[in-house]
Amino acid sequence: MSEPKRPADPHHPHQTTERSARGLDLALAERLLERSGEGMLAFDGDLRCLYWNPMMERLTGMKAADVVGQHLPTLFPFLSEIGEDALLIRAAAGEEVSSSHRPFAIPGTGRRGFFDAGYGPLDRGGAQAGGIGTVRDVTASLRASELLVETESRFRHMADDAPVLLWMADTDGLCTFFNQTWLSFTGRSQAEEWGVGWAAGIHFEDFQRCMDTYLEAFGRRQRFEMEYRLRRHDGEFRWLLDRGAPRYTPDGTFSGYIGSCIDITERKALEADLRRAVEARDEFLSVASHELKTPLTSLQLQIAAFSRQIDRRPIEALREGRLHAGGKALSDQTKRLADLIEVLLDVSRINSGRLRFEYAEVDLLEVLQDAMERWRAAAEAAGSAITLDEAPTTAGWIGTWERRRLDQIADNLLSNAIKYGAGRPIRLVVAASDRSVRFAVVDEGIGVSVNDQARIFQRFERAVSSRNYGGLGLGLWITNEVVTSLGGAVRLTSQPGVGSTFEVELPRVPPAATMRI
Ligand code: ADP
Repeated sequence: MSEPKRPADPHHPHQTTERSARGLDLALAERLLERSGEGMLAFDGDLRCLYWNPMMERLTGMKAADVVGQHLPTLFPFLSEIGEDALLIRAAAGEEVSSSHRPFAIPGTGRRGFFDAGYGPLDRGGAQAGGIGTVRDVTASLRASELLVETESRFRHMADDAPVLLWMADTDGLCTFFNQTWLSFTGRSQAEEWGVGWAAGIHFEDFQRCMDTYLEAFGRRQRFEMEYRLRRHDGEFRWLLDRGAPRYTPDGTFSGYIGSCIDITERKALEADLRRAVEARDEFLSVASHELKTPLTSLQLQIAAFSRQIDRRPIEALREGRLHAGGKALSDQTKRLADLIEVLLDVSRINSGRLRFEYAEVDLLEVLQDAMERWRAAAEAAGSAITLDEAPTTAGWIGTWERRRLDQIADNLLSNAIKYGAGRPIRLVVAASDRSVRFAVVDEGIGVSVNDQARIFQRFERAVSSRNYGGLGLGLWITNEVVTSLGGAVRLTSQPGVGSTFEVELPRVPPAATMRI
């Protein structure tokens, strides 16, 4: 049951309290208006100012005493210029209206900026008496958000123009931004890459490692670095180096990650090449020292045996021919050592571009016949016979070369044919034309796979294991360097298990020799 309403009695004490409370309310309202952080004003139906609170004074720099009673659009012409006076009129007519981000300019004070305002009707004793308004200066916040938009767009421009692939992730680890460089690289849209979409492009072999690194660093809010292959727009996987770092707002709150990636595919290939070169060099050093040590050891043994024979029974040794045989063995070993050292010297000559030729008339057929003689015994020991096929020519076999270098080419190719020839026959084929000569060393040995055929002409490169075949991996490289320096070319045709043909073509007069003549 509700309490019966108390009759309105002008003498009732409550009314006295109410009246004084009303007085209090007005005083309070006055105080509040004065202290309000918002500008407040009131105006009559003719837009004359009725009230102008201290905040309005502060906003405009105009005192209430100078404004109250004045026609607002006259005092502030910008009101008409921006059409704000129409809103004041509508408010005075009883409407609630508002405006935002309106520009203002106060005459005399030079103040300008932007304001938000709300207007409503003012009624006095039930009659329409004008309007009231609340005004807020939004210049600073507008500038701040404009600045933010500007900073943001500047960042996007920079990011999109950057030569690196950029990404950003939110606090949950999901990616929310990829720059244009990234999108052009993957050929995908921002929406496709969004969240974890980008991870679809990672090579499956790198995927797990990548995710582990990312999530672990993310959990600990740590910087990270990882390398992975990402599919490029053309389908090719490229190696990226991705560096991620946590982002924080100015107040220190974690706001996600930012990362940048560079394409390191070429660098990785270069690194691999370098690593291979260093390995090859190390292998070469160990093989070279082994190759030098072997003849040196047997030389030492032979010298010891030789001097023993001379010490003990020199006459018998001489008579039995042992001194002679020993002397020959000594000179053979010394030659082997000298040849090896010559090879090493050639390496440094070629490396420093100091390969020079003493040009003279040389008979190629003679070179090949002599080489065949030099290697006949070794070939027979390996079970191979060497034959020479010479194509008929009217041009002869003479050219302008250097004898020692032609011997070296023939020695390299013949010794290889014996070493890798599997004890099968070896053929030397020679042919000549007016301008050039060609000769080939043909064996029926182990052959060279297509994959290795170009590589074996490079320094230290070998297609066999050093356990099965001794060698420095330099013969073909030196041969090729010498032949090309003479203006010629070396060609290989080979099939594993069937045999190899190394063909050398030389111009009769090398271009460098012509220049000298
Ligand atoms: P080396 O014989 O000292 O290793 P080379 O530069 O002369 O160095 O040869 C390089 C490599 O080429 C050899 O290790 C071998 O794998 C391959 N090779 C050269 N000649 C032949 C050949 N006639 N048959 C098969 N493989 C060969």
